[in-house]
Amino acid sequence: MGRIPGDRKKKRRPTLGPHKIPSVTVSAVIFDWGGTLTPWHTVDHDALWREVCIPHFPDRADEVTAAIVAAEHAYWELTDTSQSSATLDDVFARAGVAPTEAMLAAYYEAWDPHTITDPEAIPLLRTLRARGIKIGVLSNTFWPRDAHERVFRRDEVLGLIDAAVYSSEIPWAKPHPEAFRAVMRALEVGDPATCVFVGDRPFSDVHGAKRAGMRAVLIPHSEVPPFDEVTPDAVITRLADLPAHLDAWSAPDA
Ligand SMILES: [Mg+2]
Repeated sequence: MGRIPGDRKKKRRPTLGPHKIPSVTVSAVIFDWGGTLTPWHTVDHDALWREVCIPHFPDRADEVTAAIVAAEHAYWELTDTSQSSATLDDVFARAGVAPTEAMLAAYYEAWDPHTITDPEAIPLLRTLRARGIKIGVLSNTFWPRDAHERVFRRDEVLGLIDAAVYSSEIPWAKPHPEAFRAVMRALEVGDPATCVFVGDRPFSDVHGAKRAGMRAVLIPHSEVPPFDEVTPDAVITRLADLPAHLDAWSAPDA
């Protein structure tokens, strides 16, 4: 998963110097999911789907795998270009595949090793809660809510999340401002300037959050497309580094 080391000196005091930004009480921290709350894994989607398809389509597993992977790719491209969302049902429909319950269960099980919540997430979320900060999740995903909640429940973080919005449930995906507004509504937070978004994608997460009026923290890794037209308010290489930035942003201007 290869993460890029950040510049610690610059990150520790983000309110100082030419990048100084006004202090404000942080009311909510909203996290991306893949690559953020769960560490980045490079997943071979072709191999994963083939493994899932072989028992269910023994005579044409390669053909079905190719159709599903092509449909996923098409919908991710559509998200990139139009910021519209899609669901796993859309993917199957486009691929011309009618999955059984057993196939779906096998699919989510195949993902299990790649969805382990970062061990630093629970202590971080508890720290935020202790400070009275609401915790949100906003994920670009084909998966339905129950699939995500099963993972969060498994890793004992579901009860620490105040509200989650999955793009599969709304018409839009990040970086569309409506996706960010949706999670603010779910959290019952009115002012985006009091929200901090944490994500691993410069375009979807950082650009999207800042365009919506939030602060944005980037957790960089090497496998997402760059987007140089926006500068995150902070860069962290581990979740545990987030509270220091919240402290700095909440400190009175001196
Ligand atoms: Mg991500």
